[in-house]
Amino acid sequence: MFKIFSNDPVHDPIKKQGSVTEIKKTTCYMCACRCGIRAHLRDGELVYIDGNPEHPLNQGVICAKGASGIMKQKSPARITQPLLRKAGSNRGDGEFEPISWDRAFEILTKRLGHIRATDPKKFALFTGRDQMQALTGLFARQFGTPNYAAHGGFCSVNMAAGMIYTIGGSFWEFGGPDLERAKLFVMIGTAEDHHSNPMKIALSKFKRAGGRFISINPVRTGYSAIADEWIPIKPGTDGALFMALMHELIRLEKYDAPFLKRFSNSAQLVCMDSGAEEGLFLYDPDSDPINLDLPHNKYIWDEKTQSAQPCFKQGTSPVLLGEYTMGPGPHQGKKVVPAFELLKRQVSETTPEWASAITSIPVARIRKLALEIADTAFGQEFELPISWTDSWGEKHDSVTGRPVAFHAMRGLSAHSNGFQTTRGLAVLMSLLGTIDRPGGFRHKAPYPRQVPPNAKPPSSENDIKPNTPLAKPPLGWPTQPEDLALDSQGNPLRIDKAYSWEHPLAAHGLMHNVITNAVKGDPYSIDTLMIFMANMSWNSTMNTMEVREHLNSKNADGEFKIPFLVVCDAFQSEMVDFADLVLPDTTYLERHDVMSMLDRPISEFDGPVDSVRIPVLEPLGECKPFQEVLIELASRLKFPAFTTPEGERKFKDYPDFITRFQTGPDSGIGFLSGWRGKDGEKALKGEPNPNQWQKYAENNCVHQYHMPPEHQYMRNWNKGYLDFSKENALRQKNDPIMIAIYSDILQRFRLAATGKRPGAQPPAHLKDRIYKYFDPLPFWYPPLEDEVTDLSKFTLNAITQRPMAMYHSWDSQNAWLRQIHSHNYLYVNTATALEHGIADGAWMWIESQWGKVKCMARHSEAVDPGTVWTWNAIGKAESAWSLTDNADESKKGFLLNHLISEELTLGGFKVSNSDPITGQAGWYDVRVKLAPAGEEEPLETWPQVKAYEVPGMSLKKEANK
Ligand code: SF4
Repeated sequence: MFKIFSNDPVHDPIKKQGSVTEIKKTTCYMCACRCGIRAHLRDGELVYIDGNPEHPLNQGVICAKGASGIMKQKSPARITQPLLRKAGSNRGDGEFEPISWDRAFEILTKRLGHIRATDPKKFALFTGRDQMQALTGLFARQFGTPNYAAHGGFCSVNMAAGMIYTIGGSFWEFGGPDLERAKLFVMIGTAEDHHSNPMKIALSKFKRAGGRFISINPVRTGYSAIADEWIPIKPGTDGALFMALMHELIRLEKYDAPFLKRFSNSAQLVCMDSGAEEGLFLYDPDSDPINLDLPHNKYIWDEKTQSAQPCFKQGTSPVLLGEYTMGPGPHQGKKVVPAFELLKRQVSETTPEWASAITSIPVARIRKLALEIADTAFGQEFELPISWTDSWGEKHDSVTGRPVAFHAMRGLSAHSNGFQTTRGLAVLMSLLGTIDRPGGFRHKAPYPRQVPPNAKPPSSENDIKPNTPLAKPPLGWPTQPEDLALDSQGNPLRIDKAYSWEHPLAAHGLMHNVITNAVKGDPYSIDTLMIFMANMSWNSTMNTMEVREHLNSKNADGEFKIPFLVVCDAFQSEMVDFADLVLPDTTYLERHDVMSMLDRPISEFDGPVDSVRIPVLEPLGECKPFQEVLIELASRLKFPAFTTPEGERKFKDYPDFITRFQTGPDSGIGFLSGWRGKDGEKALKGEPNPNQWQKYAENNCVHQYHMPPEHQYMRNWNKGYLDFSKENALRQKNDPIMIAIYSDILQRFRLAATGKRPGAQPPAHLKDRIYKYFDPLPFWYPPLEDEVTDLSKFTLNAITQRPMAMYHSWDSQNAWLRQIHSHNYLYVNTATALEHGIADGAWMWIESQWGKVKCMARHSEAVDPGTVWTWNAIGKAESAWSLTDNADESKKGFLLNHLISEELTLGGFKVSNSDPITGQAGWYDVRVKLAPAGEEEPLETWPQVKAYEVPGMSLKKEANK
């Protein structure tokens, strides 16, 4: 067993050791990539971890983080027992008494049972970077509260929503660049190790095969450092670059017209007449819609007959440009244009000159980039001899490759203009015809899905009832104003105001506003907030100092404004101090877990893949996996999905739940897709198999399903694939998934703002906002924070990214990884630093209009002169994570979050500092100024914050000196 209560070194390099006695396979969780690993044990003690060569994702590769998982086990910051804040103590004082799990469950069952029986929305469950959102979401739905989300709202919902509302898929888990066949790879707005090992493996092969790699990023580190060319760009302006590239492609007529006509809504006719149909596609009322939610019965203008024809009619010749008048029929006399004509008009002014002034990229470079991507897409086109049949029954002998691939992530997302920017990228990729084609972007199951998927959030008080599961899932994809989560008075149904008129398409919620809203009682107060694996009093929150005060603020009667705060974490993060009840979680090596097709699987381009974690060690102390906590609570609270008709507990524990739960009565669909059926003979769908965990254990903890080649491309319109996806519940329907160059869904919201559309309308103060940002075509606008910032004073952009060696705040208690990073610097372009009188390594101040922070500077040529940056979450509160009082993390490390506000006053009212469409946190919008620190100032960071050691820590903090 571990020497967990000892300060002895982990390894004695001189002592002769016996050999490894056992190797257990599981899945890494030192970051979110989910590589396969092997845990090597000697007499039950973990001695090292390496990559599993038989795992499809990482093929044996392991990174510094993954190999250091052993030190997570030996971390002095482990919490080992449930803790209850002592009565009368203040939150943040670290005054706890250890309690038993029985007592913890009694407290929770009584409190949550009362809330569920009276007003379920008074319970809020928000989780950080967990990988079990299918379970946490199910728990919230069964509880009956709409107040649930994971971290997506402050991470990359713009990337997910912008792409899914356009092409029905997105980057990372759900799709990515086909670097095996690409010739040109353009990476934009991506952190230095995003999609870590899989991307490194793919990039290495790509470069060895002669591929050209261009990185567009304000910072040249990580992947950007090995790019053939680095194009620095000003943060928040990527959308302007995409608009200029589209301008050039359309001006030069370098776009894939046949692809756009057949597979997107580019040729479909938009009504130009003023009124309720303005800007919407016209529909043929007499034809049979294939999909009642999002019908396909639109029109195109047929060049041959010079008339409007049903959009999927065989033998027509659709046009992309021009303006027409509808002939005899239900729409006679209406003015219409193909959607592509509107796109052409939209980009007519977005010239390279216009974009250059915004992005700081030279005009000639923008022009050259447009030519490079077009020449690669069309000049190096190739065919793969794979036959397939499209949704309209036409057989194709091959699939066309367009070998230009893109990858993008948080650099595009974490801005208040990120949704439209991401739409811009998705439309640009569509113009090039690179969607689900060899060498371009390719989907991963369960995507592609409908544009957007058919789940809708609760949209009325009637969807939320005591002692009853929610009528709809807590998170979904609105397609019209009537889908918003509003009560009959138009007030938000959710504590984070997701799906309100402030953020109508908030598909991942707004976790970053939950605490502020709950403390203000806006839109209402809650009783219990349960936080899992999210450091909401430190690096996962904007406006850190004030949020810390919020957590401790009380009403006049002395009661906390958030009356009960439950925190579940494996480590003593800064958030644990504020908990009323602490639930000690296990590490990833001590629990069962699933990376499910119902959630965020690890699928490959060629088919669905899911994987599991299987414990390789016993839980430390009284640690209990959060999964087990949820199953226990769901059983005690008698949620219908967890209870037999006789009212008995249905599932013994989490592994039993995973094996036996089905999404519907006898649906054959569960959390795991491998070895289903009584004898494990079925894949994807089939009856529960009691030996399913064993089969995963015998097969590297992973199940991989290879689709035939004819199902691997053009999946939005591939009849064989779409039938397969419906049969296996990856989708509910098998109709084609048309790319939305033009989004009539956005236009519905815009029409509501103008009052031209019958039905729900935004309140007066939000009408202009909705009208402006719900443009059905991509456009660029400056980040919202610019509106309220004196840009002559705060001239620089400030951004963060996570370092390659640490995943957000997870590893400052990891003794090996601390040797790589124990503190961070602010990286400033050398010329910019000298201009401000700041020497390399000197102490300095960075200040925004919201606050200031003292830090150390590092001169760098690898950052755009107008941008400064640092790693996030290296800086820590003193003594947090069981670090010593004078640890580098709290004395030299710093947190940029102090400079960022969670709210902005725009147009006279306060609103979340987020994208106005999705509610994605605008982390990277902040503007700053710099100054050298005074000579007499202490050589340590500011602000200084104190945390406290909690009882039951596994080691004395001296072990982490
Ligand atoms: S990339 Fe992430 S999941 Fe893979 S080994 Fe490294 S830390 Fe683990």
